[in-house]
Amino acid sequence: MRNIFYISYFLLPLLLFSCKKETRIEGKVNQSHKLTIAEARNHIKATLPTNRVALARTSQEKTDSTDLVVNWTAAGQNTSGEYSFVEVPIKTAITNVNLYGAEQYNENENATRVAYSYSTLLIYKDSSNNNANSYIVTYLPSIDYIQNHNRPIGRNRIADLSNEFSGYIEYKDLDGNPKQLFTIEKGKVTSSMILSNTRPIQTKTSSNSKSLAAAAASCQTVCIPIIQTVCVGPGGGQGPRDKDQICTTTQVGNNCNTVCSGGPTGPPPGGGGGNTGGGTGGSNNPDIKNQAQNPCLKATVDQLLNSQNIEGTMAEILNNFLDKNEVNLTIQEGITQGNKVAHLSDNKLTKYMDPNHNITKRVYSATITIDQSLLPTISKEGVATALIHEVLHAYLDYNSISFDQAAAQHNYIAANYIGTMAAFLQNKYGVPANDAVALAWGGLAETTLYKNATSFQMPDNTTVSKEDLAHTYGDYMGGVDKPNKGKPLCN
Ligand SMILES: [Zn+2]
Repeated sequence: MRNIFYISYFLLPLLLFSCKKETRIEGKVNQSHKLTIAEARNHIKATLPTNRVALARTSQEKTDSTDLVVNWTAAGQNTSGEYSFVEVPIKTAITNVNLYGAEQYNENENATRVAYSYSTLLIYKDSSNNNANSYIVTYLPSIDYIQNHNRPIGRNRIADLSNEFSGYIEYKDLDGNPKQLFTIEKGKVTSSMILSNTRPIQTKTSSNSKSLAAAAASCQTVCIPIIQTVCVGPGGGQGPRDKDQICTTTQVGNNCNTVCSGGPTGPPPGGGGGNTGGGTGGSNNPDIKNQAQNPCLKATVDQLLNSQNIEGTMAEILNNFLDKNEVNLTIQEGITQGNKVAHLSDNKLTKYMDPNHNITKRVYSATITIDQSLLPTISKEGVATALIHEVLHAYLDYNSISFDQAAAQHNYIAANYIGTMAAFLQNKYGVPANDAVALAWGGLAETTLYKNATSFQMPDNTTVSKEDLAHTYGDYMGGVDKPNKGKPLCN
C-alpha cells in the first residue's frame, strides 16, 4: 500500500499534463488556486508525517490518535465560491465521535447514530491563500435520515449532499479540536456555529443540559459526549478470527466548547459543483466494484447486477442486499483456489452494537473471483450461476448464518435456495427448467442432501441421475473437452 502511494503520487502530475483542457466552470477560483488531488495528498503527507490523526480529543493519551487509512482512490476534487478543495474518506481502528444532539435521542438511537457516522478529510485553498488547510469532517446523521434514505448514507460529501440528509456536520482540526458545526435539514445548512475548546476533557459526569442553538445565541459553553467505538474479533485483538468483528461504543468523556453563531471558514456543506473524480465506477451500484478486466465478463456481471425487472427471492437478494450501503463486494477474474469456477475471499463482517447488545449496523465486504481459465469456454448462464452461488455465501455471511463456514452454508443453500436460484436462471436467462435446477446444484456436491440423493425429481416430473445432473451443469461451465450449453460469454 505504501509503495502504491509513492508511485502514484509521482505519476499523477505526469498524467494530468496529458489531460485535455478543462472546460468546467471554475467559479471564482482561478487556475493557480485550484487544489489538485496530488497537492492535497502532499499537504496531508506533510501535515501528518506519522500517518495518524486525532478523530477526537479524549482524556486517554493512548486513544488520542489512531492509525489512519485514507482512501485516496475515492478522493473528489471540487470548487465552491472562493474555495477549491479535495474531500477524501478516512477510516481509523478506534473512532471517537462528538455526539451532538445526544439529548434528542435515547441511548440505543445514539448508538445507531454513531454507528452510521463517518469521517472524511477536507483539504482546501481559498483564492487569497496559496497554502492548503485541512479539516476532519464528521457526518452524524439523524435517526429519521438513517431510517429513510434512498442513496447510501456514506456517499454524502460537502459538495454533494443528498437533499435527504439531516443531522450534523462537524469540522475538526487534525488534532481533534472541534472548530465548526453545521446543523443540516434535508441537505440545507440551517445553522452554522464556531466552536472553541475552553477546557480539557471532563469526566462523563458533566452533562449537557443546554441546547446548541440556545448556547450559540449567547456564546455559552456546551459539553458534548465523546463516544468511542472499538471493534474486536470474537477472539479479541488481531488475528484471523477478527474478520468477524463486533464493535461496541462507550462514552469516554466530554468535549467542552464555547459555541457561538457564525462561520464558516473553509468551504461550507451543500455547496460546490462539477465534481471531478471520486466514486468507484462500474455498475449502477457504487458499492459493488465490477473489476472484471475481460469486457465480456464485465458486461455479464453488469447485466446480472441489473436485475430490477426480475421477480423472486434471488433477484431481491441481488437488488436489495447488494444495494445496501454497508455491503461492499468486489467481483473480478483470477486464479481460484482448488480449480473452482468461482470463490469468495477476504470476507469481513463488522457488527455494531447498541447498549442493549442489539445490532445497529452491519458492514460486510468480500471479493468474488471467477476463474480466468474458464472464460474462453464458459457460458453466460454458467458465470451467472457461479456468481449467484457466491452472492448467497455473502448474503449468509452478512446475516451471520454460518459465517465463513462453506460446508455449513452449502447445506443451508441446498435446503433453502435451489428453487429460487433455478427460478432466477429461468426468468433472467431463459434457461430450460430442468437445466436451471441442475445449475442450482452446482458447487453443492458435498452437501448431505446431494450425497443422500440417488436421483433428482425435475420440474417436468422426470427423474435424472446424479451423473446426468452433473453433466448438464458441466455443459454450461465450459472447460477443455466440454461442449457448451447456453450463450457464449462473448456474443
Ligand atoms: Zn460455495
